[in-house]
Amino acid sequence: MEAATLKYPEVKNYVEGEFVSNGQKKLDIVSPIDGQTISNLPLSGMDEVDAAVKSAERAFEKWSAIPIKERVQVFYKYKALLEKHREELARIVHEENGKTMGESYAEVDKSVELTEFACSLPQLVAGEVMEVSKGVQCRIEFAPLGVVAFIAPFNFPNMVPHWAMPNAIALGNAMILKPSEVVPISAIRMAELLKEAGLPDGVFNIVNGDREVVEALCDHSGIEALAFVGSTRVAKIVYKRATSNLKRCVALGGAKNHLIVLPDAHEDMTATNVAASMSGCAGQRCMAAAAMVGVGAVDHIVERICEESRKIVPGDNLGSVISKEAKERIERYITEAEAAGAKVLVDGRNAVVEGKEDGYYVGPTVIDYVKKDMAIAKEEVFGPVISIIRAKDLDEAIEIENSSNYGNAAAVFTESGGLAKEVMERASAGMVGVNIGVPVPREPFSFGGWNESKFGTCDITGKSSIEFWTQRKKTTTKWNPEARTNWMS
Ligand code: NAD
Repeated sequence: MEAATLKYPEVKNYVEGEFVSNGQKKLDIVSPIDGQTISNLPLSGMDEVDAAVKSAERAFEKWSAIPIKERVQVFYKYKALLEKHREELARIVHEENGKTMGESYAEVDKSVELTEFACSLPQLVAGEVMEVSKGVQCRIEFAPLGVVAFIAPFNFPNMVPHWAMPNAIALGNAMILKPSEVVPISAIRMAELLKEAGLPDGVFNIVNGDREVVEALCDHSGIEALAFVGSTRVAKIVYKRATSNLKRCVALGGAKNHLIVLPDAHEDMTATNVAASMSGCAGQRCMAAAAMVGVGAVDHIVERICEESRKIVPGDNLGSVISKEAKERIERYITEAEAAGAKVLVDGRNAVVEGKEDGYYVGPTVIDYVKKDMAIAKEEVFGPVISIIRAKDLDEAIEIENSSNYGNAAAVFTESGGLAKEVMERASAGMVGVNIGVPVPREPFSFGGWNESKFGTCDITGKSSIEFWTQRKKTTTKWNPEARTNWMS
């Protein structure tokens, strides 16, 4: 389609404070709400990555020399700009990703919270100093790494880049962002608002594209550290490639989150939490409930979950999934589970939204009596679907939860403190919830899973990210050589 007729202009790279087109092969950007092409995106490669690295290297020298208290002033202004443009930013998320406007507002609000945390970094990186021996001091400072990169997935076009960008840049690094090629429009406004907030040109750059850009970022010798968020399949590729090129890397992967529901769980709270967790953002959250492990007599809660799920309506309080392929994949999982003996209690297949017949919608789906070895129980479905697996006792439920290759989130619903504690201790997951369906740690706590949900040591947000985006400089000083010394001086 001609660029002039599209809702958003062609998406460009952002290098040295300018939007630049590379004029190569283009991808259509399709809004999943109604299947309409809204923009297009030229695909970059190593040349564009190299130009961005050079821009970031030049900017890094000056930016890293500015004291952190001064650097974060940009983020105070940027936070105010995010708030001022909340409506517009949310609308872009809604149109390019397909989630509801309410969810899009929440996403922008979370970006505000992440930026707010970056503003607090001077308080957290004051360093340490000690007189280790008479006249001799050791001190630790957190020094930036240099040029760093962040690779993003499609499911949170505004928020997930903010997991990395404000902290990495406030800590003195220069960054290259590679947005998901499916949802690249939100990042354009990030760049514009950062410039308006006073960020010097070259400190933040965007290179758009797909696999080729990711490989170039992993290979480029000018990049010191790389953070990735996406599927486990790609996280493994990126982690191996970046670390084999001797880069620091953290790569967050996919998820299969289990919610363990005990018979004493609060019926209403559990039902609303489970339904909201599995269907929020059309189930396309790495923290979404994918499986509910019902322990013993929980039919009354299952019934309430079905009731709650029926209130969730595609095109109203349920957004679209990202693509036609995603819709087909999700529906295939449901059909195969049904054929293998599972019972579909609420069926979201073949959902159509009036007036948006070309959009990609799947209704909320509740499937009971799923067996733990079915594909739907083990693999990441990434849609508004909850598989209910029955367990005879808590031991069996924890065993089912822990048999997953993933380990992003786990949760338990119960009124018993003792049983909740047992799940907290034994669940093999990085983020555990008690009576909460989406146990995302809020700032300053850090976000990151275990097992195949994360490769690398640090978490991506919060205090843990400080270790990822900085290196410790250890300085030992002695200023009074004439003073009394002993063997340690
Ligand atoms: P994806 O892995 O397909 O893509 C992520 C990024 O990798 C994109 O920028 C894409 O261009 C790039 N990419 C894709 N294939 C590649 C390849 N072969 N080589 C190199 N780069 C490649 O993920 P997605 O579909 O965009 O996002 C959904 C996935 O992200 C889900 O699995 C979800 O669980 C996961 N996710 C995880 C977290 C977390 O915190 N663990 C958060 C958000 C999303």
